[in-house]
Amino acid sequence: MMKAALYYVPAYVLLDWLSYLHPVLPLAITPWNPPPGLSLALLLLYGLRQWPWLFAAALLAELLVRDVPVSWGWLAAATAAPALCYAGLAVVLLRVGRIDPQLRTLRDLTWLIGGALAAALLAGLAYVGVYTLAGVAVGGEFLANVLRFWIGDVSGLLVTAPLLLALAARHPWKARPERETWLQAASLLLVLWITFGIEFTDEFKFFYLLFLPLVWIATRHGFLGATLALALIQLGVIGFLQLGGYHARTVMEFQMLMLGLTVTGLFLGISVSIRQAAEDRLHQRESDLNRALRVAAAGELTQALAHELNQPLAAVANYARAGQMMLAGPERHDALLADTLGKIAAEAGRAGEVVHTLREFFGGGRLHLEACAVAQLVEEGLAPLIKRAERREVALRVSLPDGLPAVRADRVQIGTVILNLVGNALDALEGAGRTRPEVEIAAERAAQGMIRICVSDNGAGLAPDMRERLFQPFATSKVDGMGLGLAISRTLVEAHGGSLTLEGTRPARFCFTLPIDATAPRDQEATRP
Ligand code: ADP
Repeated sequence: MMKAALYYVPAYVLLDWLSYLHPVLPLAITPWNPPPGLSLALLLLYGLRQWPWLFAAALLAELLVRDVPVSWGWLAAATAAPALCYAGLAVVLLRVGRIDPQLRTLRDLTWLIGGALAAALLAGLAYVGVYTLAGVAVGGEFLANVLRFWIGDVSGLLVTAPLLLALAARHPWKARPERETWLQAASLLLVLWITFGIEFTDEFKFFYLLFLPLVWIATRHGFLGATLALALIQLGVIGFLQLGGYHARTVMEFQMLMLGLTVTGLFLGISVSIRQAAEDRLHQRESDLNRALRVAAAGELTQALAHELNQPLAAVANYARAGQMMLAGPERHDALLADTLGKIAAEAGRAGEVVHTLREFFGGGRLHLEACAVAQLVEEGLAPLIKRAERREVALRVSLPDGLPAVRADRVQIGTVILNLVGNALDALEGAGRTRPEVEIAAERAAQGMIRICVSDNGAGLAPDMRERLFQPFATSKVDGMGLGLAISRTLVEAHGGSLTLEGTRPARFCFTLPIDATAPRDQEATRP
């Protein structure tokens, strides 16, 4: 921590010397006094324990830079008083206001600005008071002196402290400036030059032009941009006024305008930073959600895989056991054995196909489009649910008109869609207490070369709060539901160039469309299941 002080004391004295412009003598009050900003940043960033350095630096600067003609005692009192006020400000900000020194919220900034305005006033009263008592300053000038002190210190505090805090928190040197940043800096310098550099423009009337580059920079770069722009403006204003040989009073009036610019710029900058931080958090949350979605999809996939593989594997095991029994018996059943082995090979092939298709789909998300008879798609989609429907005594009715043309589809994916829709319908019928629960799957020709396939049930229909968000991922009304079925189904159907919509709510009816296969001969007969 000594290290910070090692830089702080020389920096304080140097800054005091550099900003020792237009002093109002004999009190040596300057219209721009940045060193208190450095002190405040030191305490906020490196801890309140650094407070003794404030006194050391102030005393050293007073001796080296200023030259107030008083005795040692008065000098010590006059330098100690502002240092005490600013140390007190740091204590209040950290202990009472509990601000984050990184200035992340509007509240932090409001505390800092309010505290600076008050502390500079107290410091001014104490400093001018001490020198008035010492007989250096004229009593009649008391208020004017306090105002001068206040404006100098407040503008110094509010330009320097937020800049240092922002630099410490946001490390701008890690990013390379973009072209826009150079343009912004150039526009700032241009406006400074127009305001102060050109003879025929009235500095006071043109001063507010400085809002333009400041607002541009603050809206694009947030708090850090605003503090950097304000520092540049402050240096520019002081530099031009110094070159122009202005009267101290005029400089003070400019500092008053500067104060308005500073407070506006800081608030605008922090508002932009807060919005940016909120956006970043939102993105973070979105990517978290995406990750959760992927994990859920992996869960879905595992279940689907387990389900798809279970059947052929169970069949393989059964056939193999039957084969073993045949071999164990006294008689030879060569023909039967060959048949059983054939069945084993077929089931193993089916399992391999499942794995292959899944890998194709998830590996590149590629569609395996081919001409499919609607009846066959429906049959394949329904197959895994037939047992479940039988157990619940739900009638599965398929009604397909004759002469329905084939569609161009990926059988596995459309099978998944039908499975999801019919599965949802079976869920909806559960506990609905219908005497004749049934699910109907119907298909028909639709406009624009499409076939429409609808799944409806006679269950209780959709819960009112589900209607709006049916197709959103994770929207579910079921205790063990994932809320992914409809979302995935819609994506799959849309990948085919079709659409999946809700056509009836009570009872529920979902329809999706698929393009008719243009390569197939017209009016190709579909085989009935
Ligand atoms: P999950 O089945 O995991 O809940 P889905 O995306 O498949 O996810 O369905 C979302 C929700 O839509 C269901 O929880 C249910 O509330 C509603 N829903 C879907 N199909 C039907 C239907 N046929 N009848 C009534 N509600 C349904």
